[in-house]
Amino acid sequence: MNFIPLMSPNITEADINAAVEVLRSGMLVQGANVVALERRAAEYLGVKHAVAVSNGTATLHLALVALGIGTGDEVIVPAFSYVATANVVEIVGAKCVFVDVEADTFNVDVSRIEAAITPRTKAIMPVHEFGLACDIEEIMTIARRHDLPVIEDAACALGATENKRFTGSFGAVGSFSFHPRKAITSGEGGLLTTNDDRLADQFRVLRNHGIETGGDGKMNFIAAGFNYRLTDFQAALVLSQFARLEQIIETRNELARTYLENLRPEKNISLPRVPANKRHTWQTFHTIVADDFDRDSLIAELKEKGIGTNYGAQCIPFQTFYREKYRLDCATLFPNALRAFQKGLALPMFDKMSASDARRVCETLRQIVGTEKLSAASDF
Ligand SMILES: *Cc1c(COP(=O)(O)O)cnc(C)c1O
Repeated sequence: MNFIPLMSPNITEADINAAVEVLRSGMLVQGANVVALERRAAEYLGVKHAVAVSNGTATLHLALVALGIGTGDEVIVPAFSYVATANVVEIVGAKCVFVDVEADTFNVDVSRIEAAITPRTKAIMPVHEFGLACDIEEIMTIARRHDLPVIEDAACALGATENKRFTGSFGAVGSFSFHPRKAITSGEGGLLTTNDDRLADQFRVLRNHGIETGGDGKMNFIAAGFNYRLTDFQAALVLSQFARLEQIIETRNELARTYLENLRPEKNISLPRVPANKRHTWQTFHTIVADDFDRDSLIAELKEKGIGTNYGAQCIPFQTFYREKYRLDCATLFPNALRAFQKGLALPMFDKMSASDARRVCETLRQIVGTEKLSAASDF
């Protein structure tokens, strides 16, 4: 029986040819394809500016630097996400203020945000986890009330919507990743979005050593910038996949429907909730297994049976660095984030996967966990 991996990027011959064409041209870094990718992304998302950079973590870092966030400042971040979301806050010398997530969407629990705001809060950085928009309109309302910028970490949510509006188009800044774990990929790559002309200028200057090119074509070094440029062959690679994005999202929604239908009767697995006003892009299909199960043994057993699974994301304040620095009692403060980290199980999801693959995943999973003796996964 063939092995069904957790994920597998779908790079077509056309994608490869697009990248190779750039390699043959000799124009390797930040050329016409970067410009074309930025134009395409801005048009698709309905934002004024898109700025391509070297990876998703770089986008978040640039956002914080451009907003002037640093030592002594606080940034509100969800307790459950990929660690990069919090790492960038640490890198600029600011403090993470963690907020627990919802048990069934894995997105930040909006009702807990206002209590986390202090006079030192400088930004709210919500995550659209696993390809599902968080309650971004509500977050924008809170942010406006407190005059705070919102940085949307939409790294895994390109194409996700709330009330038909795209993630990454609500906040002061939107941030995307093109890592192979995301729907479309350049290997490494990232993209910032904003409607603010001044911020867009800063992103462009800061990604390229702080260089501003004047009308006379002369370079002027106006900031201590970074080298966060994207190569042009990476831009060509991801731009070629952009044409398939809607199809990829549709395929993933079909696979998710197969999972939801076939796993629904299984009381030892809790399934993700999708609010009706949102389009999920299913970067990850994330379930929670009942407390009785040792999730890591389950991953090993599934692997033996030909199915690749993994945990989905981290309870960040529970990771060594954050645990030692912040010393927060995660079980009390972030019970949903901790449970999602310890009992979360991400199932295979990639656009070359077939419905019968998804059914096989469900059957195997139910064979392993479908024991009457075990207590039910707690109700959401
Ligand atoms: C993938 C991801 C990142 C980091 O993106 P990279 O391109 O790997 O640097 C940040 N935040 C979230 C939520 C992610 O899923």
